[in-house]
Amino acid sequence: MAGSAPPVTRFAPSPTGFLHLGHAHSALFGWRRARQAGGRFLLRLEDIDPGRCRPDFADAILEDLAWLGLDWDGPVRVQSAHLSEYGAALQSLRARGLLYPCFCTRADIAREIAGSVAAPHGPDGPLYPGICRRLSAAEREARIAAGIPHAWRLDMAAALRAVPGALSFHEDGQGRLCCDPARFGDAVLARKDAPASYHLCVTHDDAVQSVTLVTRGEDLKPATDLHRLLQALMGWPEPAYAHHRLLTDAAGRRLAKRDRAATLRELRAAGTSPAEARALAGWPD
Ligand code: GLU
Repeated sequence: MAGSAPPVTRFAPSPTGFLHLGHAHSALFGWRRARQAGGRFLLRLEDIDPGRCRPDFADAILEDLAWLGLDWDGPVRVQSAHLSEYGAALQSLRARGLLYPCFCTRADIAREIAGSVAAPHGPDGPLYPGICRRLSAAEREARIAAGIPHAWRLDMAAALRAVPGALSFHEDGQGRLCCDPARFGDAVLARKDAPASYHLCVTHDDAVQSVTLVTRGEDLKPATDLHRLLQALMGWPEPAYAHHRLLTDAAGRRLAKRDRAATLRELRAAGTSPAEARALAGWPD
């Protein structure tokens, strides 16, 4: 934990669209927390999803943040340049028997859930019903050898057994909160179509970048339970957390990428100044 040292915070957008005022709020939140305390503010592009991320959005993010008046310390970390590091983390979990390959399609999972009496839900949706957890080692190997596409899932029960004691985290202004990672079930840590999942990459990178205060929207607060489990399994240091409120529009709806009028690009083209944009993002100077 950070103790009283100046915090290292970060903003970690995914380049799947242009930044909107909600992102500006988040970036300014992390930037202010660092700068007010003489700490460091890092920027990371979470671009591991090849189907949704685009280089032109990544360039636009840097440009829009600079226009907004933000600066960041050190080079921008671009996740797609670090795939072998996520692969090594996955390999370490696999070697300890904490991951298993999952060959299910979405349809397989939906069929299994439809036929079951109870279908528990977690923060990321319905829990995986464990179809591939029940495969024998020989069956797994045969399917991998046959080239059947597969994801890698965390064996949640095994992972919880591997971590001694209860997990918790320090939330800014709230103190220590208890974690219940089992709510995620056997979470996917490497997808069929992407080499690693958000949950794995974000915890890996917060560790290697020595982030001591994770600043992000409160929509991601439930994910912290799983992140603390991954940190404990991997021996990564525990950061503190500060989850901020989400900006909403006049109708009280959460701002999303589809609200084009709220992108920083549009505001800038319409003659909005950076100071006005900061105020619209909830941080008047
Ligand atoms: N890349 C994530 C997003 O754009 C944020 C990750 C995080 O801050 O933990 O939603």
